Order: sequence, then structure tokens, then C-alpha cells
Amino acid sequence: MIKLHDLEFEPFISEEEITKAIDTIAKRLNDEYTGRKPVFIGILNGSFMFASEVIKRFESDCEISFVKMGSYEGTKTTGEVKTLLGLGQELAGREVVLLEDIVDTGNTLVEVDRILTEAGVASYQVATLFFKPSAYKKDVPVQIIGMEIPNKFIVGYGLDYDGLGRNLTQVYKRKESKMTNLVLFGPPGAGKGTQATILKEKYDLIHISTGDVFRYNIKNQTELGLSAKSFIDKGQLVPDEVTINMLNAEVEKNEGANGFIFDGFPRTEAQAEALSESLEAKGTEVNAMIALEVEDEILVERLLERGKTSGRPDDADERVIRNRIKVYYAETAILKNFYQKQNKYYGVNGEGSIEEITTRLSSVIDELMN
Ligand code: AMP
Repeated sequence: MIKLHDLEFEPFISEEEITKAIDTIAKRLNDEYTGRKPVFIGILNGSFMFASEVIKRFESDCEISFVKMGSYEGTKTTGEVKTLLGLGQELAGREVVLLEDIVDTGNTLVEVDRILTEAGVASYQVATLFFKPSAYKKDVPVQIIGMEIPNKFIVGYGLDYDGLGRNLTQVYKRKESKMTNLVLFGPPGAGKGTQATILKEKYDLIHISTGDVFRYNIKNQTELGLSAKSFIDKGQLVPDEVTINMLNAEVEKNEGANGFIFDGFPRTEAQAEALSESLEAKGTEVNAMIALEVEDEILVERLLERGKTSGRPDDADERVIRNRIKVYYAETAILKNFYQKQNKYYGVNGEGSIEEITTRLSSVIDELMN
């Protein structure tokens, strides 16, 4: 395993496999281009190592240019225009072979395709060492492929992570974390807190309830508590910036955890995006949003009951309770959409005994962990 900046990477494609792929590409180029004096164009920076290996194996006359994608301001209508920097070569009527280290989304290829077509080349083909079929979204044909790879973040053999890793002679992939991260979702009174307490023990996860963290801070009269109190007392959401910073700090406090149960977070799309980002930086993700589904009237009943003993002012007043439920549906139900789009939304019936609900939740979590 190696570490580049803040991320860990593990071996993925050996030097031997890479050499074999390059041999195959070079053989095909030798067969097709003998006596045709092609111009090889390597797209910097990533392709330098691959290009050098291909060209060493090419046996006929050829020319070589290395270029970088750059951009300049076009006219008002064309906006920013992409260009190839460093192309000191007339390409009209030439046979071009583009050498790429990796074709991913295909955005670069679309630009290069336009530039080469405008330059009037006689023909061109794309030869790429790595190709990600599941990430490729464009129509430009990729004729010569060394190796198809899954949509993983890779470094080495010319490819970098924020400038580092290009010198590695084999390819590494981002180390995947085995964390299980659950967003426990549902309106106030749905039983998130009760269930989270049981599930965190059962699955050895860290439970972060943003509501609890806020209340702890209010009780201890911290700066955070003071700035959150007025919102909480009215049953409104605390502003995103405050909440996100607090959540990130809680996650950071638990380095090395098996995973998290997020309870009461995210409640807005901005919070959901922020959560994705901070988990992504740890090489992990939200595995599922599990929502407890409960009728409104049962919620009000449960919260009023809890208010008798919880000492929470926002549980004592039916109007505040109804407002919290309203806020939940108005502002936070969009999150269902957010996670549904990623096939991560699981609705669970939240009515019944505590044990019954735990059993329903566990069957979803067991499935995720398998
Ligand atoms: P809860 O205990 O989850 O019902 O949260 C109690 C109160 O804390 C909410 O009504 C909000 O005022 C505030 N709060 C908790 N979590 C969040 C969040 N993710 N975003 C904004 N405000 C929150």
C-alpha cells in the first residue's frame, strides 16, 4: 500500500500486465501503419510513459508531438475554446495516432476530435492504454484499447493524484474503505434516536445525532449552542454552514470507526452534498438512507408523550411539534429523491413495537453488509 497526499492506494495492475497490453497495441500499430509515416500525438501529462513505450516499439518512420489541452477566449458566441498547446506541426493530410493514458468520460476526446477534424487530418485513431467503459459517455470511437478497467480512481504509470504518483511503474487504485454509513431518516418522533441507540451497539457503529450535539452545546452554553438555540426553539433548521461544520468535526473525532449512523443529518440537499464530500475524502460513502415511515398523528402523540419526560421545550408544544413535522416534509423530503436517484433509499414501516422496528431495520442493514 502507498500513500499520496491524504489518500491510500493499493496495487491494482502490475507492470507485467501493462507491458503485455502495450505489446499488443504496438503490434497492431506496426501492422497497420508500416510505411505510412504516422504522426503520434501524446496528450500530456499522463501519456508520457505510455507514449514512450509505444514509440520505442514502433518500427517504421514516424513523427511525434506532445501536446497539452489548453483553452483561450473565443468570440462571444463560442466562449472558451479548447486548443492543443505545443503542436508545432502541420497536420493537414497526415495520418494521426492519438496516444492517451486513459479515456474516462471522453470530454478530452471530444475536443481533440473537433481540433483534428478542423486541422484536416487524412485519418486519425485513438490508442489508449486504459479505458473505462462504464464512465465513457461520448460517441467518438476509441479504436485501440490496451485494457478495459472498472470506474475506479487509479494512479501510476503516468497518471496522478494531485500531481503525485506519475512515476510509479505499476497502477494503484484508491483503497476502498469497509465502512458502513447509514442515514437514519424520518420525521421527528419516528423513533430514529431509539433505534439508532440499539443499532449502534448491534453493528458497532458511531451514532451521530445532530440534534443531540446541538442540545449538548446549548446546555454547556458554547458558542455553537448559543448560535443554534434560537432556531431550535422555534423548530426551524439551524443554518447549513453551522450544521455542516459541526457534523464534519464529529466525524473527524471518530477516525477509524467502522461506520456511522447519521441521525437528523442530512436535512437539506446542501448537507447531503457536504456529507458525500467528506465521506468521499475518506474513501467511503453513504451506503443507504433508511427512512422510518410513520403517520403524522402518531408522531404528534409520541412527541407529546416524550415531552412529559424529555425536558425538551420543542416537544412540549403541539404547535412547535406540528411545525417540525411540516418543516420535515417541506424541506427535507427532497432528500428522499437525492438518495433514491442513487438507489440508496429504503423505506421501513416505523409503526409497531421497538423490537419489530429493529428487526425490520436490521434486515435492510444485514443485506447491505453482505
Ligand atoms: P432533532 O433532535 O433531530 O429533532 O433536532 C432538533 C433540532 O435541532 C431541529 O429542529 C433543528 O432545529 C436542529 N437540527 C438538528 N439537526 C439539524 C440539521 N441537520 N440541520 C439543521 N438543523 C438541525
